[in-house]
Amino acid sequence: MSDVVAGGAKSMEELVSLCKRRGFIFPASEIYGGLNGFWDYGPLGAQLKKNLADRWWRDMTLTPPVRDGKPVSIVGVDSSIIQNPRVWEASGHVGGFSDPMVDCKESKQRYRADKIFLVGFFSLDQAKELYASLEDAVALLEKAPDASLEERAEIQRLFQTWRAEYSQRAANLGLPAIIVSEQGDSAEEAVAAAQRRLSKRQLKHLGVNFTPPGWAHPLVSAPEKWPRLSPATQTESLTAPRDFNLMFQTYVGATASEDDKAYLRPETAQGIFLNFANIVDTTRVRVPFGIAQIGKAFRNEVTPRNFIFRSREFEQMEMEFFCHKDEARGWLDFWVEERRRWWMGVGLSEANMIVRKHDDDELAHYAKAGAGTYDIEYRWPFTHPGFGELEGVAHRGNFDLSQHEQHSGKKIAYFDQERNERYLPDVIEPAAGLTRGVLALLCEAFTPDESRASKVVMKFHPSMAPIKAAVYPLVNKDGMPEVGEKLVGDLRRRFGHLGLIEYDAKQSIGKRYARMDEAGCPVCFTIDGQTLEDQTVTCRDRDTLAQERISLDRVVDWLGEKIGG
Ligand code: ATP
Repeated sequence: MSDVVAGGAKSMEELVSLCKRRGFIFPASEIYGGLNGFWDYGPLGAQLKKNLADRWWRDMTLTPPVRDGKPVSIVGVDSSIIQNPRVWEASGHVGGFSDPMVDCKESKQRYRADKIFLVGFFSLDQAKELYASLEDAVALLEKAPDASLEERAEIQRLFQTWRAEYSQRAANLGLPAIIVSEQGDSAEEAVAAAQRRLSKRQLKHLGVNFTPPGWAHPLVSAPEKWPRLSPATQTESLTAPRDFNLMFQTYVGATASEDDKAYLRPETAQGIFLNFANIVDTTRVRVPFGIAQIGKAFRNEVTPRNFIFRSREFEQMEMEFFCHKDEARGWLDFWVEERRRWWMGVGLSEANMIVRKHDDDELAHYAKAGAGTYDIEYRWPFTHPGFGELEGVAHRGNFDLSQHEQHSGKKIAYFDQERNERYLPDVIEPAAGLTRGVLALLCEAFTPDESRASKVVMKFHPSMAPIKAAVYPLVNKDGMPEVGEKLVGDLRRRFGHLGLIEYDAKQSIGKRYARMDEAGCPVCFTIDGQTLEDQTVTCRDRDTLAQERISLDRVVDWLGEKIGG
């Protein structure tokens, strides 16, 4: 698939506009002005998403991976979006699933407080160190976009270390936080913002003093006086941070009283834990085994952004793998590598992915006791040259099952006949975003090419491409449409379950090819005058632009070899 783009990131703006133009993704409720954080999938987007979801479902539940010569055991479920609200108390979401939020009173913009400022108070020595570590990163960054992959990874690492180290230091000192400015997700934006914020004027404005050791700054003990500089207006117009729960609320039944309050699920995982005992009781699965689910999840994100990367309604593909605690570490390693390779199998290039272990202070509430959490990260255009999360693989311990056992009062422990032991299994969770995965496929496929009429070609992996092939009579007469229609019928019978087979007999052939380049269709079959004489068609390859003639009766097999299935 496409290489890392030399010299810079792909343009999100162009990608978003292509997605609209070709019917991949539209803003939801567009004719009413849209709704921030919600998206609709058009014919090509819906098919692309389905291809990715089907592949995941197949590779999890129908033909699962093999370990030590044996297929891993995984079954599927499809649970309710709305559950008894006590589920979310047990899971920790009612109490803890929140982001600190600040509003700008002037611009009405809303920010995640942890994304825009962490204010800190440093001794002179500490301040010097802060500058020094920043300078290292800035120096490296100046070399980008010519930086090598290793150097880019180093930049990424430096920023992570910088952030982790200084927030930890602030916490150790019992201070509110540190000076940081992470407006934006990319390292470049972060540095630019940091530099802006670290200018003298800004520092003064922020109320940051570099105080000699031992001096307590008066602001430390007065959070109400913390600086409130708004990124939008550069004035002190931010409200104090307050916790904002990310779960959407609704009411079940007609009375809409507080007792009827319920939540749209913020993750698919809990529906799996709720059915753990049902599945053990009704199927032949034995630990270790997994339960997989694909479905919608809803989070009232404070700042939805970057197209479908962070939306308020999205889809997840989550699998909870239940195992004995002594085996959890081995399964964690197995799943991290398995999932990384899986993403490569659907077309993401190795160079655009990294596996990152979470820093300890970043671990989610459930992962504290576990063996750690890994993120599989992708180099998004908006994080370039850095990376951002695509999938998390977490060791959740037995946190969820034990919470549900306590809160429901029902016994759900598992009896292991081989070990003659009753226990709550540990859980390894590969949790991927389906819609975020669609964005990764789109970003990877997007390949500008000035030499083509379309100026851009979407180089999807053939197994993911929403349109598998197009059949084009050169002209809409002379017996060509009849041949074309028959061929489309044959191709749909054989490949229709995998994706669309396009037929179009109008427009110039150049325009039709250009449309298929933008749609990412791997091959176009063209029927022309010669077809009627010798029963051959032209196959046009999307990536190489090679045109070869093959006989009509070979087309179905030929396409099968190209796209699989
Ligand atoms: P983030 O830190 O980006 O908010 P998270 O760590 O909270 O994500 P998880 O709860 O682990 O995410 O969810 C698993 C996966 O679901 C993520 O790796 C991501 O692919 C996807 N995901 C999470 N939130 C969103 C969202 N708002 N929009 C789209 N996909 C999401």
